[in-house]
Amino acid sequence: MTTRLAERFAPFGTTIFTEMTLLAQAHGAVNLAQGFPDFDGPEFAKAAAAAAIAAGHNQYARMFGIPALNQAISGWWREQTGVELDPDAHICVTSGCTEAIAAAMLGLINPGDEVILFEPYYDSYRASVAMAGGVPLIVTLRPPTTDHGPFWFDPDELARAFSPRTRVILVNTPHNPTGKVFSADELRQIAELCNRHDVIAVTDEVYERLTYDPSRPHVRLATLPGMADRTLTLSSLGKTFSLTGWKIGWAIGAAGLVRAVRAAHQFMTFATATPFQHGAAAALASVDEREGYIRDLMSQFTWARSFLGEALARLGFRVYMPDGAYFIMVDWTACPRARSDGHADDVAFCRSLTSVAGVAAIPPSVFYQNREHGKTLARFAFCKRRETLQSAVQRLDRWAGTS
Ligand code: GLN
Repeated sequence: MTTRLAERFAPFGTTIFTEMTLLAQAHGAVNLAQGFPDFDGPEFAKAAAAAAIAAGHNQYARMFGIPALNQAISGWWREQTGVELDPDAHICVTSGCTEAIAAAMLGLINPGDEVILFEPYYDSYRASVAMAGGVPLIVTLRPPTTDHGPFWFDPDELARAFSPRTRVILVNTPHNPTGKVFSADELRQIAELCNRHDVIAVTDEVYERLTYDPSRPHVRLATLPGMADRTLTLSSLGKTFSLTGWKIGWAIGAAGLVRAVRAAHQFMTFATATPFQHGAAAALASVDEREGYIRDLMSQFTWARSFLGEALARLGFRVYMPDGAYFIMVDWTACPRARSDGHADDVAFCRSLTSVAGVAAIPPSVFYQNREHGKTLARFAFCKRRETLQSAVQRLDRWAGTS
């Protein structure tokens, strides 16, 4: 049958996460492509969700979140920013951050409005802007020029992207796929431009608690001067609590911005799964248990980041160590074995690594407007059990002839 796909989706195809996970399964490869933990989230959160089902919390939730979850999110925000929110006016619970991103774009963008995105970008950003009829304007994050530097952008390129047509800038920090944590200085530049051009900032902060360098802490754009009323902060439960399948996300911001998210959310999903909202409320509200869980998780990820980063470097890849999130970007063309195979681009390299080495990675060119920019890169996820990573490294060693 001929395709009946609407034109707005024609450029996007199937997401790379689905494609690489299917390829990994077909080849029995270790999946370091799609970023999801291969271990479970905390017992106390799971028990609360199960108890909510048993207690009969199985009908529609309040459209913008069950009261207990909105309160728990406002407590989480108060702890981290010192700011007191009205849980009924300043928060909308969504079905994962991906829904929050789509709802924010649909709720805020008029057809033809420009939206500034940094590339590489998480793939749903471009699609969400397209769904809203917006026009993406791209600012490129460039690979580090020194051994330990972060990905960076040219401040002039950013300033040039702003115009009277700009409605929104979308900022993801800590950043997927590069692991960049935007510095206070970089965020101040963004804030200054938003204030000058009356632009709304939408931030995706799902990796807010996953940072590795105390000298590069996570800074919230919403806390910078002039930004409280023009920033929508989006986040979720999935990454912090290893519960990506629960699809619990939220948007936080001034009442006028949150109203825009709710306007779209009520017609997309109406409300988010009730029992999981109860589980999420328990996860966020049990401060001691949750902080203990996050501490353990971070010690595991700190080990995993070094273990995989060092192994990839030993194999000859140029490794860009991340300051946040749970991905490592490499330049695969630096690896002698990869280079000797003569792959045309990152897609060919990642497909071959999956089928020949038995380790799947994500080809990042799909996260660039100009695919050429991502052609030499590959992204490996390290949010996996120790045994999984050890098995991946063994396979890579065998493939590269280093063991
Ligand atoms: N956020 C995860 C990643 O970047 C997974 C996204 C997805 O599967 N849609 O790998």
